[in-house]
Amino acid sequence: MELSRKVAVVTGSTSGIGLAMAANFARLGAQVVLNGLGDDTLISTAKAAISDVSDKAAHYNNADMRDADAIAAMIADVESRFGAVDILVNNAGIQHVTRIEEFPRGRWDDIIAINLSSAFHTTAAALPGMQKRDFGRIINIASAHGLIGSVGKSAYVAAKHGIVGLTKVTALENAEQQITCNAICPGWVRTPLVEIQIRALAEEKGLDIEAAAKALLASKEPSLRFTTPQQLADTAAFLCSEAASNMTGTTLSMDGGWTAQ
Ligand code: NAD
Repeated sequence: MELSRKVAVVTGSTSGIGLAMAANFARLGAQVVLNGLGDDTLISTAKAAISDVSDKAAHYNNADMRDADAIAAMIADVESRFGAVDILVNNAGIQHVTRIEEFPRGRWDDIIAINLSSAFHTTAAALPGMQKRDFGRIINIASAHGLIGSVGKSAYVAAKHGIVGLTKVTALENAEQQITCNAICPGWVRTPLVEIQIRALAEEKGLDIEAAAKALLASKEPSLRFTTPQQLADTAAFLCSEAASNMTGTTLSMDGGWTAQ
């Protein structure tokens, strides 16, 4: 597969899964637009990861995914700079783990804004152009928590179930055009978002980091293996291929059997 005539926007792509997806799209020839938080060094490192695999320099947009106006401006800027948004990956996300009665309101608002509402705003802004050009691939990064719950993750689980619902409606509203929308539902992936949870478990149980990582896996995933960012990036690329052109409104679990139980 090659994507040399495609423009891909990946939200939250300064690290983790988003950066792996952006680099994979770049390797397949796409013009990539990076987004996410981070200092100059992190953003330069992310850009370098793209130039390592592509001669098309990545463009970086600093839109905060809590800011609907900044999101609309980002999509408009990409369209005017590169002519289109062909592939949109709604990946930006954060986590906070506390029981509901103690859950800080601000964290709830941020998680709903970043993990769910931002996908509505990017999608609403990108769809008119996709409809005009009769092409679009929208990929929402949900989670096993888009399908089932876990203690302490109310906001995250609510947002991820929400993005699965948004995926279905986006797919249905555009089903007759060459526009698909699907959700990928990873289990544990060893990124900064999960390292925080591994460190918390290590502290709570008095384990070293690698023992805590194993315990985290064992708590949910029968495979006892982390899904890698590259496996998710390859799945996102598959969703952009001809083979997946009639696949829409669905969820792809990559969770080592977590949700099969
Ligand atoms: P990560 O922490 O490595 O990356 C998160 C990205 O989101 C970063 O680029 C960060 O800058 C960006 N971001 C955070 N707040 C933002 C904001 N306000 N505006 C713009 N960007 C913002 O985490 P990750 O594990 O790569 O997570 C990526 C996605 O995958 C998230 O949606 C997450 O929920 C999902 N996911 C992760 C796992 C896992 O185990 N790591 C499992 C299932 C789903």
